Parts: sequence; structure tokens; C-alpha cells
Amino acid sequence: MTVNLLDFDLEGLAGYCQQLGEKRFRAVQLFRWIHQKGARDFDSMTDLAKSLRLKLASNAHIKSLDLISQHDSADGTIKWLFDVGAGNAIEAVFIPEEGRGTLCVSSQAGCAMACRFCSTGHQGFSRNLKTSEILAQLWFAEHFLRQQRQTDDRVVSNVVMMGMGEPLQNYTELIPALRVMLDDHGYGLSRRRVTVSTSGVVPKIDALGQDCPVALAVSLHASNDTLRNYLVPLNIKYPLADLLAACLRYLQHAPRDFITFEYCMLEDVNDQDAHAHELVRLVRAQTHVDHWCKFNLIPFNPFPASGLRRSSAQRVLAFAKILTDAGLVTTVRKTRGDDIDAACGQLAGDVQDRTPISVRMAHQRLHGSTPQSSRRERATESLP
Ligand code: SF4
Repeated sequence: MTVNLLDFDLEGLAGYCQQLGEKRFRAVQLFRWIHQKGARDFDSMTDLAKSLRLKLASNAHIKSLDLISQHDSADGTIKWLFDVGAGNAIEAVFIPEEGRGTLCVSSQAGCAMACRFCSTGHQGFSRNLKTSEILAQLWFAEHFLRQQRQTDDRVVSNVVMMGMGEPLQNYTELIPALRVMLDDHGYGLSRRRVTVSTSGVVPKIDALGQDCPVALAVSLHASNDTLRNYLVPLNIKYPLADLLAACLRYLQHAPRDFITFEYCMLEDVNDQDAHAHELVRLVRAQTHVDHWCKFNLIPFNPFPASGLRRSSAQRVLAFAKILTDAGLVTTVRKTRGDDIDAACGQLAGDVQDRTPISVRMAHQRLHGSTPQSSRRERATESLP
């Protein structure tokens, strides 16, 4: 069986090369060809010995994802929809901003967490993505955009694991992908420019702190356990006290960092002054350390099955003011890519994983977008 080399971090590739009778420096060369130069044809890897190129050609390949569609927003946001087989699709979204380019990456096809405000959560879970499928989103975006812009300079400067799925529920496949993102022979991103967003899988937060302490964002969305049990059912297993304690432990592995708390603003559910004051007390009760977290308030993307409504802009600002006045750094997420229906899977879940590709493609031909898709919120507003 041929091996997809996008499944390996550098250590994995070195082990694979060793099996082929090759030294580690060959793995480094190969790794750089794949991730830094975007090569997938072994013949183009001119500094590899011909014998190695032949071995690779008969044992391995570099396989990205099959692209279903690309949607370009007037504001520069680009959404790609990829086929991951068996009628499932995932998306990656590129968000250009002054001085940086952020890629929002999916970790699962669907999601089992069933958060009430998330369309992906309502669609259910299909399967975990492989390391190669997570990395292929970055590999494709980086090299496609370089080619489009006719540059050899890096285009994707930040990665947020905020697309479809709960990344920490796919931990084994996630970690090698993160390592490739951080590796100087790979994408060379600093760990503060790679963010994992979680709904609160406490044991895996601890594991991530040990294994690969990148920036951490937590989908909080509630100021007490009763409300969070309703909005984020995982809270029943890992309640707020346990979650916040895990966040503080995480910061021991990521000194000088902060935790970003994502808070989706839902009218008359979690957006009242009393909730904001409760959040202040919650955060203050954990530690005397100042500035260990910041809040990112997110306008909700309504979808029919949720039965939830978006808070008014006025309410969001009033809520933000209470947090800010209490000394908590707070930002309000702005929308991007509205004209291409580019919602982020983590918080809006617009990918049609359960919709057969043929149906999606027919819909796109007719309407120019995927069914049920919604708006993209800027995933990067408060991230490092
Ligand atoms: S918000 Fe994230 S964890 Fe919750 S259902 Fe949606 S994709 Fe899953």
C-alpha cells in the first residue's frame, strides 16, 4: 500500500525513510520539498538521489484533498470545500488581513459535541480526519495562494483549528499536524500563531499542554454550569470548575500566553447583564493573576434548527462594556466573507457533511453556494 507522506511529522518521516534505508537528512530534504516548496512530484526533488526518488515513487505519494469548490469574497476571504469521501465534505477558509493571513482548518467531518448554537453540531459526527487531511488544508492553501500571488513568501501566517469538528477529540491525528505547522523545516509558524479551539475536553487540554502547547481558545458561551450544560453538553462531563482549572494548568506550559474564551451571544439566553457580571466573578475566582484570559464575543449565525436568535449589536456592546469595565480584555468579532456564506465550522458549522456531494454540486451550479450555508465570522479577532 502506498503511504501518503502528508501523514508524517518530521520524526515520522525520518522513521519512514529509515525503513527505506535512508538517513535522517534525506527525510529533512524531503520534508522541505513537500511543505516548503509544495512539491508532490518526486522527480522534481532534484537534490534527492535518483535511487530514493524511485523508491518513493513506488512506495509513497503526496496526496492533497479533492477540491469541490472555491468561493471568493469581495473582502478577500476564500472558502474551499473539499471532498473527504463517502458523501462528506469539509471546508477551510482563508482570511487575509493587514500583515497576516489566517487559515481556519477543520479537524473532523461533522462533530459529536452537539453544541446548540452550532450547525455542525446539529449535523452529527461522520469521522475523524487523518493527519494528512488536516495538513492538506494548509498545504493546499499555502501553495495555491503563493502560486496565485506569484510569490515564494509565506502567505498563511496563522492557523486556527476552528473549522468543523472538536480538534481535541481527534488528538492522535491532530498532534503530528500541529508539529508540522510549527516545524522550521515545515511551515515554521510560532506556537502563538497556531490556535487550537476546544469546547472543553479537559484531559486533552492537559495533554496538549504537555505535547504541543500552542495557543488555546475555549468555547465558553455560558457563565454558569446550568446554562453551559444546555449550550455545550460536554459541560456535563467536564464542568466549568474543571475546565477553568485545566486552562490555568495549561498556562503553566505556555507562559506569557492567555486563554481566549469564545462567547457566542444568544438573545435572552446568555447575553444579559447578570451573565456578564457572573462571568467576571467566574474568571476572578480562579486566580489572582491578571490578564490570564480574554473574551471574544461572537454574533450568532442563526439557523432554523437551533431555535436561537442573535443578540442585538446594542446588547453585545453593553455586555462587552461590563467585561471591559471589570478589566477583562474583550473584543467583538466582526463578520467577514458574508457574500460567500463563509461561516467558520467551529461556531457556525456550515459545511454540509451529510449532504451528498452530487446534491451539493448541483446546488452550487444552481445557486453558487452550498445549501444551508451561513456567514463567516472573523475567527481571528482576539487571537495572538
Ligand atoms: S461548536 Fe465546535 S465542538 Fe461544538 S458542535 Fe460545533 S464544531 Fe463541535
